[in-house]
Amino acid sequence: MGEILGRAVPIISNERPRIIRYSNSAGPIRSKFLISLRDEKKIMGIKCSVCGRVYVPARSTCLKCFENMEEWVDVSHEGTLEAYTILYKPGPLHITDIPYALGIIKLYGAGTGLVHRLGEVDFKKISIGMKVRAVFNEERKGDIRDIKYFKPL
Ligand SMILES: [Zn+2]
Repeated sequence: MGEILGRAVPIISNERPRIIRYSNSAGPIRSKFLISLRDEKKIMGIKCSVCGRVYVPARSTCLKCFENMEEWVDVSHEGTLEAYTILYKPGPLHITDIPYALGIIKLYGAGTGLVHRLGEVDFKKISIGMKVRAVFNEERKGDIRDIKYFKPL
């Protein structure tokens, strides 16, 4: 029982499926970012003209200034690991075998962290500040997973 304005209210539960497959438009900014990954193996950021922050992945509006961004910049395939976790328990949407490591990578030239998988890595040797490099898939589809993973340098 719940309570609203001092009155007891029965709580209703509805069962719903947890997995929903859908597609949505990436929009012009994200599409350009993904096309660069797919066609040129290029990781591009977008720079705020007010605060200078470079977003990777690219987005249309600065989270700090709310400024629309249009200045594209290339960022490095290399960067540092800002944070990480190792996943041991599979979830319904996991795209790879477990266990695997997931990190937040700040690429050189970027002002934000990119969440991505870590590969070719000994879990016992992962550390914050570790230098990593993007490894691309041979076949690319215009998806953030065109970067297969980031491996230690
Ligand atoms: Zn800004």
